[in-house]
Amino acid sequence: MLKDLFSKLNKKVNETDRNDGTFEKNESIMTKCPSCKKILYSKDLYKRLNVCANCSHHLPISAQDRLEALMDEGEVDLLFQDITSANPLNFPNYEAKISKDKEKTGLNEAVLCADGNIEGERAVVAVMDARFRMGSMGSAVGEILARAFGYATEHGLPVIIFTASGGARMQEGIISLMQMAKVSVAIERHNNAGLLYISYMTNPTTGGVSASFASVGDINLAEKGALIGFAGRRVIQETIKEKLPDDFQTAEFLLKHGQLDEVLDRRDMKDYLGRILKLHSGV
Ligand SMILES: [Zn+2]
Repeated sequence: MLKDLFSKLNKKVNETDRNDGTFEKNESIMTKCPSCKKILYSKDLYKRLNVCANCSHHLPISAQDRLEALMDEGEVDLLFQDITSANPLNFPNYEAKISKDKEKTGLNEAVLCADGNIEGERAVVAVMDARFRMGSMGSAVGEILARAFGYATEHGLPVIIFTASGGARMQEGIISLMQMAKVSVAIERHNNAGLLYISYMTNPTTGGVSASFASVGDINLAEKGALIGFAGRRVIQETIKEKLPDDFQTAEFLLKHGQLDEVLDRRDMKDYLGRILKLHSGV
């Protein structure tokens, strides 16, 4: 059972939203929607994949819960879970921060990768989690994603990546930036084998992740209300000396300007992705 598979990894708690896309543990019975401020039953919210019943605001969801909601019951193999961050630059307190995030999230790194079926179609799925170092991309995240594409190329499988990231991991300096190129090369090899890559951007997808693998899917999707962009709004405004529109860097804004193929409600992701995979499976 899929549930059993996640029992070790999954710390089932309800979470509250914060503007930076991370969330804190909240085991209370009720959860306040950060958008419409309505008080919701945490249990009901969990059943609705953390989408507010009143205003459809998408609260954060853990990588484990997303994978569980997406994958079919049955055989799901978690991949590359032994890969974890080292401290190549001897950055002060980095190991302690990694240990704390492992404890907090039940994850070994900021991305969870699996091989399984969606609506009967086999795919390699990688889900980033903003609770772990803001979903930042260090050498371990890059290695897991590069291997995911290598594994998919070898087995002739499509890849879906759910991005959620503050960008490159500052504690790993230039090594984190190298991951942009490393993952891009693995994507190119996968692409040259004629295989499908779907990028599914969730809140927030920023920095080096938005500037590399998040933006180069054969199909680029995003979740409702997701913040997607490279540099922060304030930095851009101060640079170009112009006020930006209110919806700038939202998924809806990018769709309107032709940078996305579709914006989805989280509750439709399984059905939608299943249909795309079927269309591309050639059956
Ligand atoms: Zn709401």
